[in-house]
Formats: sequence, C-alpha cells, structure tokens
Amino acid sequence: MKKQEIFNIFAQNKSNRIIEGESSGILNWDDIRLPQMYKLYRVLIGNHWIPSEIPMNVDKSDFPMLPTNTQNTFKRIIGLLAVLDSMQTMFVGDVREYLTDSSLEAVAAIIGQQEVIHNQSYSYVLSSLVSYTEQLEIFEYWKNDPILLKRNLFIRDAYQAFRESPSPETFFKALVADMVLEGIFFYAAFAFFYNLARDQKMLATSQMISYIQRDENQHCYFFAELYKQLLIDFPQLNIEQNKTFVYNFMDEAVRHETEWAEYVLDGIEGIDLDEFRGYIRHIANNRLRLMGLPAAYEGVSNSMPWIRPFSDEALNDTLTDQFEAKPRTYTKASQDNDWDDL
Ligand code: ZN
Ligand code: ZN
Repeated sequence: MKKQEIFNIFAQNKSNRIIEGESSGILNWDDIRLPQMYKLYRVLIGNHWIPSEIPMNVDKSDFPMLPTNTQNTFKRIIGLLAVLDSMQTMFVGDVREYLTDSSLEAVAAIIGQQEVIHNQSYSYVLSSLVSYTEQLEIFEYWKNDPILLKRNLFIRDAYQAFRESPSPETFFKALVADMVLEGIFFYAAFAFFYNLARDQKMLATSQMISYIQRDENQHCYFFAELYKQLLIDFPQLNIEQNKTFVYNFMDEAVRHETEWAEYVLDGIEGIDLDEFRGYIRHIANNRLRLMGLPAAYEGVSNSMPWIRPFSDEALNDTLTDQFEAKPRTYTKASQDNDWDDL
C-alpha cells in the first residue's frame, strides 16, 4: 500500500479514496470529501481535557478505605487500560500514514493525541494512589496475567498484521479490531468505575474515565465511518466472507470481555455479572449497527443505562464543587453531538 505523499502537485485537495487514493495532501476543511469529518473534528477539539487539572485528593483518601478485592480490581483495570491506550496511539499513527485524505489524517492526528492523554491519566491516577514501585508493577501486569495477555494479543495480532504488511485486506481487519478495542474492551472498566461513583467513591478517577468514554465514543464513530467508506472505495472487500469475519471477531471479543469481567468484577458489590453478560452483547449490537450491519444478538437491551459519560451539568453540579476543581471551559461543541449514546 502506498503512503500519502507530503504533497502531490498533480492531485486535487479533495481525495478520491480513503486509502490508495489521490489527494494533494493539503487540508482545506471547506473542500473535503466526507463533510461529517469537520463536525467530528470540532467535537473532538471541544472535548479536550487534561488529567492533571482534576485534583486527586479525595480519591487519595478513598482508596485505602476500599475493600482489598476492589483495590486489586482497580489496579488490574488500570493495568489493562494503559495497554489499550498505548496500543491505540501506535495504531492510529500507522493508519495516518496511509490515509490519502487530509481531513481523515487530521482527525486521526487529534485522536492519536487523545490516546496519549488517556495514558497520562493512568500514570497520574496511579502516582497519586500507590507507591512508585507499585505503579511500575501495575504497568507490567499485562505481561504476566494470562487473561489480560490473551485479550490484548487478540487485538495486537490484527494491528501488527497491518503494520507488517499494509493492504486493504489487513486494513479492513485492523478496523474491525479497532471497533473492538475502543467499543467493547473498555466496558468492564466503565462498569467498575461508574459503580464506584454511584457509591460516591473514587469520583476523580471516574470523572477521567467518563471523559475517556466520551472520547472513545467519537473514536468509534470515526473508525466506523472509515470501515463503511472502505467498503465503498473497495467493493471487492464487501463480500460475505468478510461479513462472517466481522461477526466471528465480534463474538470472540464479547467472549473475551465477558471472561475478563468474570475475572475482575466477581465479588464487586453492586455489579451483577449476569446483567453485564447481556449488556456487553447489547454494546456489540450497537457497534455492528454503527458499522452498517445488522445486530448479532437478540433479546438484549441496555440493562446498565448508568454506564454512560457523565453530563457536564452533572459534573459541574456535584464533582466540581466537591473537588473545587477549575470549571471546565473547553467544551463548546459537544452539546450538538449525536454520537454520545452510541
Ligand atoms: Zn483512549
Ligand atoms: Zn480511542
């Protein structure tokens, strides 16, 4: 696959394909092929946040009071998230090189930056709650924990295949893996932190997780748009065999996330694992619909409606007062955004 040239004087600014296309390399937001990318760009910019602006002092006093199993789950989950966002920074960087559309490349640049910020939040949270030695250990969990390793390799293999031999086929599979990483693999973590927040515990960490979920929802939208556009630009990929691949991959992802939830959330007060099993299928259905595909699982619904980003009003009413945090001033564009409930 060819990389986008820095500039190509023979091509138009507006691209003709998302990869393997022709475009000048110059970005003019008023001359782009997929106009929804300008709206997405503004939403992403409006959602900007910085972990270190969220004071950790209340969480610092909450953490030692949590039951030991809850503390262990907290550390395991942060250990997972740190790997997911690290992988994601690299993957988005790989994708950027091959996008032959300046608006997509620009949005990917912002998304890559957000993944770096997500990683900053994990270091920031741990440095506030545990010793430096323990922080280093938590960032190593993924190497030694077989369940963690298995689910991370599942994504890593698809990303690595694209890195090693980039082609429309490996790109297609990597996009499906991306939908799983950003759209399925965070959900046991969201359940865990929002459950703590319902109990008024670890509210600063949960606030960061809420911002991360808001970002990830937009990233899912972006990659689903890439997925659908890829099938339009490369109709030879729009075949039954690939559709089967998507459903099988999603189904395996649901199994991984369920197994992970059973492993880390078992015995956590307030979490009903049966409910989570149905809920994660409901989320998988949503991801498939976003990709323009029919749902895979029947008889499931949004049984855990409290797993969603906190609204800015709720944050301003409760959390901000409690933490005496600076009021957030970045968000201007996110209110008109319809993708938050995806
Ligand atoms: Zn992220
Ligand atoms: Zn993301």
